[in-house]
Amino acid sequence: MDIRSQISMVFHLDKCIGCHTCSVACKNIWTDRRGVEYMWWNNVETKPGTGYPTLWEDQGKYHGGWEVKAKGKSRRLGLRLQNRLRELGEIFYNPSMPQLDDYYEPWTYRYNDLFTAPQGDDQPVARVISQIDGRPMEIESGPNWDDDYGGSQVYAANDPQVTRLSEVEQQQLLTIEKQVYFYIPRICNHCLNPGCLAACPAGAIYKRGEDGIVLVSQEKCRAWRMCISGCPYKKVYYNWSTGKSEKCILCYPRQETGQAPACFHVCVGRIRYLGVLLYDADRIEEAAKAEDVVLVERQLEMILNPADPQVIEAARKNGIPDGVLAIAQKSPVYKYVKEWRLALPLHPEFRTLPMLFYVPPLLPVVSATQPGGTQRLADDFFGTLEHARLPMQYMAGLFSAGQVEPVEAVYRRLLAVRLVKRLQAVGDADPTQVSAVMAEAQLSEGQVEEIYHLTTQSTYYDHFVIPPMAREMADESITSTDIKKKETGFGFKRHPHRGP
Ligand code: SF4
Ligand code: SF4
Repeated sequence: MDIRSQISMVFHLDKCIGCHTCSVACKNIWTDRRGVEYMWWNNVETKPGTGYPTLWEDQGKYHGGWEVKAKGKSRRLGLRLQNRLRELGEIFYNPSMPQLDDYYEPWTYRYNDLFTAPQGDDQPVARVISQIDGRPMEIESGPNWDDDYGGSQVYAANDPQVTRLSEVEQQQLLTIEKQVYFYIPRICNHCLNPGCLAACPAGAIYKRGEDGIVLVSQEKCRAWRMCISGCPYKKVYYNWSTGKSEKCILCYPRQETGQAPACFHVCVGRIRYLGVLLYDADRIEEAAKAEDVVLVERQLEMILNPADPQVIEAARKNGIPDGVLAIAQKSPVYKYVKEWRLALPLHPEFRTLPMLFYVPPLLPVVSATQPGGTQRLADDFFGTLEHARLPMQYMAGLFSAGQVEPVEAVYRRLLAVRLVKRLQAVGDADPTQVSAVMAEAQLSEGQVEEIYHLTTQSTYYDHFVIPPMAREMADESITSTDIKKKETGFGFKRHPHRGP
């Protein structure tokens, strides 16, 4: 066992109201500079839709992430980008990259026009101008252009997940799409097997040894921009002014002083949770190249129980400080992901082993108002999954490599919590049915209460359980884990230095 600690995240999508406060907080702190106007390290997109940059999920277009090349019984993991023939043809040119139009041309308004316009019959307006070159422009897209009803019929039909559904499912979805959509906030997943890092020819991207945050060295970056193609989530961006790539840094300067990242701190829906996960780095390759049917399972198996004495002992040997181990035992992320099995990675089939997990949204409709009162839609409680507002296959395309069972299992647990609470609060559920539903969802009463508490009534300190990340602690953990460096290529090469 080669145990590492990783700062990880859970976003509970049922709670996201799509207010974009998170995006704005991040923009104000990190991307309010020249050359980064179009960047949204945190963006919120509407699903079904094409997202930002547009069609980022379409790896046929962008060649991001990893793919397994099977030869007989052997399975080899390689970057999708690294196709020798294509590489030769494109040695000084990388077409697998979003262009400005795929993001959007950032704009501002010529506000001065409001004050300097000559007197006339009409109200003066502030003209739209490009933030790149200052010329007047027409706005044609934006970071969440397909928000709500703004063109979502058009965008939903182009969503790569939708195009993979059967014709019947597409019709069902696109009809319901008039009423149904949800939001998906996205930041860098600080992956365990990052495509961005593997694709960088300059070795400028590294994963911090002590907490797994993935960063771009601004000193080493040579503007190859392979990271932008290599990341299947399109969460590395190119600063056209400095000529360097940039990405979400998970607000590590805030975390080092015990504060949650800005987008987490401001989240209006309180959908975000942050905590430590312990994982076995020896299993990275096996998990990343697992077959689709067991992909989610293998990824979750890598995550270890922080209260297990064997895990604690092996983690200590690997130099993980006791302060971090104690915090790992209180991690809300461990609870959601491993203990309760309620959160899943986004597009696990990209095989980067993302460390941001999502509780899927939009619980199925379980009852409807009929003449004479409310009526259940199905006698079999879990049969209501067939009445899900979006096809299960669509959710499976997002969260479980197209496998419906892992997503359905999550919904079964979420529905069980809802039924227990219904019995407690309204009293119109049948207690025998509630027990049966809980047994099928494999949840205990205690777990239901804990889930309910963490989802609805938790405090700031329940949401964000941040390990000690002061430089001194990092130094201590690096000293001990240094011996492992060569095995993975991850982590610091030099000790952190304080002072001039
Ligand atoms: S999500 Fe982040 S860590 Fe993962 S490949 Fe993309 S940029 Fe790298
Ligand atoms: S601030 Fe929270 S609720 Fe608002 S869009 Fe961002 S993640 Fe969703």
